[in-house]
Amino acid sequence: MGLLTASENMQNKRLVEILQAELTDANVLIQKLTQKLEVNEDSGLPNAVVMNRELDDLLRLTPHPKAVLFLSLSDQYTVLKRTSPSKPQWILFNTAIRIMNVVGDKGRVNHTKDEEFLILLQDLTEPQVATEVAAEIIKQVKEAYVLNGQAISLGVNIGISFYPEQGESKSILLRHADIALSEAIKHKSIYQLFTPELRDRLIEKDELQKKILRALEANNSDGRPQLMLFFQPQVEIHDWNSPGKTGRVVGAEALIRWNHPNDGFIPPSKFIPVAEETGLIVHLGTWILHTAITCLQDLATQGFDGITLSVNISSEQLNLEDFIPRMKEIVRRLKSNDHQIKLELTESGMVNVDDTISKINQMRELGFKVLLDDFGTGYSSLSYLKNLPIDVVKIDKSFIDGVPAGEKDTALTRTIINLATELKKDIVVEGTENRDQIDWLYAHGCKVFQGYYFSKPLSYADFLHYLRNFPAIFEAKSAII
Ligand code: C2E
Ligand code: MG
Ligand code: MG
Repeated sequence: MGLLTASENMQNKRLVEILQAELTDANVLIQKLTQKLEVNEDSGLPNAVVMNRELDDLLRLTPHPKAVLFLSLSDQYTVLKRTSPSKPQWILFNTAIRIMNVVGDKGRVNHTKDEEFLILLQDLTEPQVATEVAAEIIKQVKEAYVLNGQAISLGVNIGISFYPEQGESKSILLRHADIALSEAIKHKSIYQLFTPELRDRLIEKDELQKKILRALEANNSDGRPQLMLFFQPQVEIHDWNSPGKTGRVVGAEALIRWNHPNDGFIPPSKFIPVAEETGLIVHLGTWILHTAITCLQDLATQGFDGITLSVNISSEQLNLEDFIPRMKEIVRRLKSNDHQIKLELTESGMVNVDDTISKINQMRELGFKVLLDDFGTGYSSLSYLKNLPIDVVKIDKSFIDGVPAGEKDTALTRTIINLATELKKDIVVEGTENRDQIDWLYAHGCKVFQGYYFSKPLSYADFLHYLRNFPAIFEAKSAII
């Protein structure tokens, strides 16, 4: 190899300079990209990547007590994001400032996900510091944000877990703070400390959810069915106080029963709330309505074609956007005689009155009758009764329990009966267990009764048997003892 000429030397030098300049540009770019990858763009705070990288080290390196605070802005934030896309970034930036102001040098704040922040409080002298910080953050973030002269208020919840008692690793601590947050979210703007009971309840809920799914699968396939509908007769009586009294079964309430292969009978009060929380109520509800309509069709072939079946509809089902199309589809598929189906709704969980009224009207147009269940137990019963286009009111067992001996229950029941009568609603009385109740209620204008006095909920076969033997059953029940 010969020596380089002067001009070749110059060329090489120039090449090196160009390469060096490009390398510097690349480094700046890498730095910018890294920053972008590690910073939440809305708030400027370190994001989940940083939190993930640093948290384990922080826990390991300084063995002092710490607390993890998992913070989530309420649903109002999600609504705001949908309705005014320009505001959320401003809100997040200001939320970050408010949180930072409270936390100060007590810890680190990460903006982990859109509406979620994670705060690590280091070197806690006592657990109380964590709850004080959480309470102050909630107070500050709850304060209205004023943007362009408009005040925006947001709710906020926080879940807290402590290191090392409630988890020595990042993943366990975070999971426990998340469990506490899920509990806090059920309420309005509170903080919640993690407890092992919360975790156990969550595990139980997860297991129950899986079991409900398996039960639905077993019922929909050829497996051994676990779910059944039971039917509690509703008896209409006439001339109760005369020797010529008559009665007939006008309908029945369909009530779900679950016989689990290992756990035995699981009551609806245990699994319906889980099905509601997890969204499985939609599938369960479809199965229930489908089964009720099939039974109704079978009843007609057995000579009982005047019976109405009541089906409970959870608020979670009713609040679904596609609730009405789903109902239409079931009715169409089964060519159902829908005017013999009564849908039982409860006022708890009816979030939007106008939406509920519109859905009830559509259900009635489809031919269903609509009944308001557990009437009197909600907060807004009077206005609901006035505004909701329902056909029937069911007086709740909790009032009937006190009739006729309890002064208050009796007075309330009398008021409910008068109110329903004035508003021209039919009445069904639930939970009638003894003769005294029936006597008093009949004397005050009630005619249709559901309760243990006439019958407990029955399997379909037993319900058919009940219907076939009703004249004798009624005679025995109505005889003056
Ligand atoms: P609900 O709709 O108010 O049903 C009435 C409950 O009272 C039933 O309990 C029934 O067995 C019970 N009951 C009726 N008469 C008497 C009586 O005289 N004495 C006593 N002590 N109890 C009586 P169940 O079947 O345990 O259901 C409890 C709740 O679970 C129901 O309250 C309803 O909210 C829900 N549920 C039951 N089945 C279904 C269903 O198929 N779908 C939905 N979404 N919810 C259901
Ligand atoms: Mg009911
Ligand atoms: Mg009820």
